[in-house]
Amino acid sequence: MTLRVQKYGGSSVAGAERIQAVAERIVRARQAGDQIVAVVSAMGKTTDQLIELARQVSNSDPDARELDVLLSTGETVSSTLLAMALHARGCPAISLTGLQAGIRTDAFFSRARILTVDPERIRQELEQGRVVIVAGFQGITEQMDVTTLGRGGSDTTAVALAAALRASTCEIYTDVEGVYTADPRIVPEARKLPTILYEEMMELATQGAKVMHNRAVELGWAHGVPIYVASSFTDAPGTLIQGTGQAGGPMQIEVSNKVQAIAHDPNVAKITLLRVPDRPGIASAVFAPLAEAGVSVDVIVQNSSVEKMTDLSFTVARGDAARAREIVERVGKTISAGGVTSDDTLAKVSIVGAGMQDAPGYAARMFQTLAEAGINIEMITTSEIRITCIVRREATAEAVRALHRAFRLETPEGAPKKE
Ligand code: ASP
Ligand code: MG
Repeated sequence: MTLRVQKYGGSSVAGAERIQAVAERIVRARQAGDQIVAVVSAMGKTTDQLIELARQVSNSDPDARELDVLLSTGETVSSTLLAMALHARGCPAISLTGLQAGIRTDAFFSRARILTVDPERIRQELEQGRVVIVAGFQGITEQMDVTTLGRGGSDTTAVALAAALRASTCEIYTDVEGVYTADPRIVPEARKLPTILYEEMMELATQGAKVMHNRAVELGWAHGVPIYVASSFTDAPGTLIQGTGQAGGPMQIEVSNKVQAIAHDPNVAKITLLRVPDRPGIASAVFAPLAEAGVSVDVIVQNSSVEKMTDLSFTVARGDAARAREIVERVGKTISAGGVTSDDTLAKVSIVGAGMQDAPGYAARMFQTLAEAGINIEMITTSEIRITCIVRREATAEAVRALHRAFRLETPEGAPKKE
């Protein structure tokens, strides 16, 4: 008997009809003899609506502990409804909260991390022949306070359970059919990838691809849980995220094109601290308070200094721009910097592929492609398997399309043959 962990996202359980469709899928999987643990997100836009309500009653400053209890109710609702839909089909099923499912977290409300999973109760229920529905996104602290795992956190719940239960795979069902070479809404000829490596998916998720939560991919990677992403709306084959060494894993050796996919994020803001004294401790004075405020900083560029003065620029998510600017203005005064400017009309576009680091020419090709499209590059950053350019937001779609063409991602073979 195979134990399968399946996760159904918000759009997959958005209404009674969708919940019934998910129940049908689970019944089918169970008829094939598999044990099923299903993790659910809150229905549709429930979490957004609850956050909005909380803001309205609290002058936009809801208490963190209360907010987490509130948000956790979204997943509790969908889990119970799915259990009822299964009962109506004669399928034994039980819903469990994060607490009942044994998910222990730290006490950082709204962004808690899972510390341990004790799946004892889940196992007992499976042994009784029940489908187990677990409310995603929620956990419990040592003090028995309810926490949530950060937006999109149900993916993380699912992968954590798959690891703890030693499930063969973790299946993530969503409203897209898998991982594409680029967002198909921007590039119509984008191709669905049958497989992708954990590290590539991590980069894509971090750089703006919305398919999966990057923490969940990281967790899958750490515990060797293959993650299968597919649509709950169709039966089309999805994308398997896995490691190179895994059974059935991709064994492409030295393929000609190391670029797998393009990610973009249209919500980037740049903050520049002007004429900063060039001496030890300055970067720490600027970035420590940002970290404390929970603002994550992405690209950082410090110019080479002229007469012991330098400009320091960095990017943050557009939603964090105002807060980041406030903090930097405050710090700027204490270190007698020359002022702060910000620009929240930027975007980032990244090419991702394992193996790019050993093969020269990818960066050059990317820059040339953008140049030919008349797109100015504002900032550049790289990792071993990624090159990211910050561009103006209005150029995003054109940049993604031009790069998709340049790296020939519409064909499985990728890069053009040697001329
Ligand atoms: N309901 C939560 C959210 O919307 C968690 C999730 O969907 O994974 O962020
Ligand atoms: Mg959601």
